Amino acid sequence: MPRAWVEVDLAALVRNARALAAHARAQLIPMIKADAYGLGAVPVVGALEQVAPYAYGVSSIIEGEELRGAGIARPIIVFTPTLPDDLARLRAAGLTPTLASVQGIQAWQALGGGDWHLAVETGMHRAGIAWHRVGELAEAMRGCPPSGAFTHFHSAEADDGSVAVQEGRFRAALAAMPTVPPLLHCDNSAAVVRRSPSPWPCVRPGAFLYGIGSGATAARHPEPVVHLRAKVMELRDIAAGEGVSYHQTWTAPGPRRIATVAVGYGDGYRRHLSNVGRALFRGREVPVVGIVTMDMTMCDVTGLDVRAGDVLTLLGRDGEAVIGVEQLASWGQVFSYELIAGLRQRLQRVYTGAE
Ligand SMILES: *Cc1c(COP(=O)(O)O)cnc(C)c1O
Repeated sequence: MPRAWVEVDLAALVRNARALAAHARAQLIPMIKADAYGLGAVPVVGALEQVAPYAYGVSSIIEGEELRGAGIARPIIVFTPTLPDDLARLRAAGLTPTLASVQGIQAWQALGGGDWHLAVETGMHRAGIAWHRVGELAEAMRGCPPSGAFTHFHSAEADDGSVAVQEGRFRAALAAMPTVPPLLHCDNSAAVVRRSPSPWPCVRPGAFLYGIGSGATAARHPEPVVHLRAKVMELRDIAAGEGVSYHQTWTAPGPRRIATVAVGYGDGYRRHLSNVGRALFRGREVPVVGIVTMDMTMCDVTGLDVRAGDVLTLLGRDGEAVIGVEQLASWGQVFSYELIAGLRQRLQRVYTGAE
């Protein structure tokens, strides 16, 4: 049996996906990059097949090949730019590229053309053709028309007007295309939850599916999907004045019962959680005490009937109580996406709620 594990609730994931699709009234392109934000791309996609998304989004050819290898037949769009030399391999795997240059479009056409999406850069300065230069690709697009076009918002969670600015630029880019393709998509999770319906036929959520919300003001909040659980390996009673863990940063204010769980920063449970993290035991909060070590973390369970082998929940739901991803991320001084994508493979993945 694992000493600590990540439980992924696939039924909650599917409910989050259905809720977003209904809210956006658009087709989904779930983002499965980085192994589905660390949760496991193949099981996640296996569950999402129930909601019949238009396509899946990945970041690399290798990620796309993994999904094809698992028997996924829907379009798989590679969102990180692909160098022209790598397009042959992308094509051999039956993937859809995102392109943004004459050279790229011509290389794709030379391989036989077909499904591709135009990446339009509207302010993030990360990837894509600048919106005001799309006309330069018009001739290449006439020879090899795209099936879709998209841009990406840099601050959709901020309510700062930037979405409208970026969308204005995107519309200008569409006007410069010889024909406007049918598959247009801009919205990440934060954009989807902020408006209903989406002005675009497809949306590209990632975070929301995996239980990461986009702030208290968002119109919708996801159900928790990721639960980090660890077994109590040992218990000890310590006296007032005794310290716990490296550097003895925590000292018992009175007699205390200390539980050791086998999870630490080597699993992605951040060292910043030392003395500020909290865990759940049968719905009750218990504080992390002392420094989080690479393999072990200590919690103060004084007054609770905890035994060796019992399970503490460090992230997610335990009974009625929940430690949300944003909450744990803020305690750990890490970005919520980075927290779940950073849960290491040493933590076994346990999937629940699969059909
Ligand atoms: C990661 C990503 C998304 C999804 O963003 P979330 O904030 O996780 O919903 C959408 N589009 C692109 C291009 C991305 O890279």
